[in-house]
Parts: sequence; structure tokens; C-alpha cells
Amino acid sequence: MTKQALLFNYEYCSGCKSCEIACRNHLNLGLGEWGIKVTEVAPFEIAPSKMEWIYQPVPTRLCDLCEDRVEEGRKPACVHNCLAFCIEYGAIEDMVARAAELGSRVSLFLP
Ligand code: SF4
Ligand code: SF4
Repeated sequence: MTKQALLFNYEYCSGCKSCEIACRNHLNLGLGEWGIKVTEVAPFEIAPSKMEWIYQPVPTRLCDLCEDRVEEGRKPACVHNCLAFCIEYGAIEDMVARAAELGSRVSLFLP
């Protein structure tokens, strides 16, 4: 089977944490445990009157790429529940090509 990967287009991540909750339910984790964690680079001024404020979701070692959901033909829980559509899932080659297409503020998770 082709190796799969997650792509995060965090340009559009709102920091809502729906992915964290969906993943926790999928992995049956308790509070304080994460299969994915949304990090925040606190707002700071990068130029006069120009602020930088970044949210970036980061999968942990617990991420199993939602193998069971995918086997059933469903999307990974984090992908399905991101209302900003900033998480994508697919073959590594396709995700690398997609990352190149999107440009900046993109990260890949290759387990
Ligand atoms: S669900 Fe999407 S928009 Fe919300 S924190 Fe996660 S990646 Fe960001
Ligand atoms: S692919 Fe599944 S296990 Fe991995 S971060 Fe997303 S919801 Fe969690």
C-alpha cells in the first residue's frame, strides 16, 4: 500500500481545536492526552502595525493516521472535523506535490 501522509495548510488554521477533540475521541484518549496538538505562536509585532499570530496543528507519536477509519473508506477524524479545510490526507507523493503548490505555511506529517 502507498504510504500516506497528512498535510497542514496552517495559513487558514483558526486555532479552534476541533481536530484535537476529534482525534482524542478517535484514539479514545483522556483529557490532557493528544494525538494532535494545536500550537500557538503568540501574537507579536513583525513590522510597524503588522502582527504575526500563528496556529499550527502538530500530530504526536500517538497518531495512527486513523487507519481504521480509512479502511472503512472514511477520512481521518481531524481532516473530517476541520471546518477550515486546512488538513489534507493522501499518498505522500501527492501531499508533497500539494505542499509545493500551496507554498508557505504548510507542514507535512510523514509517520
Ligand atoms: S480543526 Fe482545523 S482550524 Fe481548527 S485548530 Fe484544527 S487545524 Fe486549525
Ligand atoms: S490522522 Fe487520526 S490519529 Fe492522526 S492526528 Fe488526525 S485524527 Fe489523530
